[in-house]
Amino acid sequence: MPECIFCKIVKGEIPCAKILEDDRVLSFVDINPINPGHALVIPKKHYHTLFDMDPDDLQACILAAQKVGKAVHRSVAAEGVNLVQNNYRAAGQLIDHAHFHLIPRHEGDGFLSSWPGKPYAPGGLDAHLKRIVEALSQG
Ligand code: AMP
Ligand code: ZN
Repeated sequence: MPECIFCKIVKGEIPCAKILEDDRVLSFVDINPINPGHALVIPKKHYHTLFDMDPDDLQACILAAQKVGKAVHRSVAAEGVNLVQNNYRAAGQLIDHAHFHLIPRHEGDGFLSSWPGKPYAPGGLDAHLKRIVEALSQG
């Protein structure tokens, strides 16, 4: 995947503001932050989405996200932190290399200011439960 910008960052072909690195994971500052201090955690290996990831890389990323999230929280005296992980275009994924956002949050900053939940029609919740559990059994 030579054209992947995050693979280029992993290989050192494009610079990044590095926060931490180990065998499996790289974390760096997001160049276009939702709020200052917004950080990314990525697996060094290229995967399109979360769902493609090897369990060991996923574990390494989640543990790094916990560490980096704590540091982001402290570093800007944030009142909250979102862990955001987008998969596919419809969910806002612009870079097709799986990654995790650690976004520091402040009261009234306007990000995700509404969570427009929609109640199920009668029977809808149970129908969706059945579909999800069936899909789960397919792996
Ligand atoms: P997503 O929409 O989940 O794919 O998010 C991609 C994120 O990558 C965005 O927040 C971008 O600002 C960030 N980004 C893109 N290129 C770079 C880069 N060269 N260095 C740091 N962050 C980047
Ligand atoms: Zn990549």
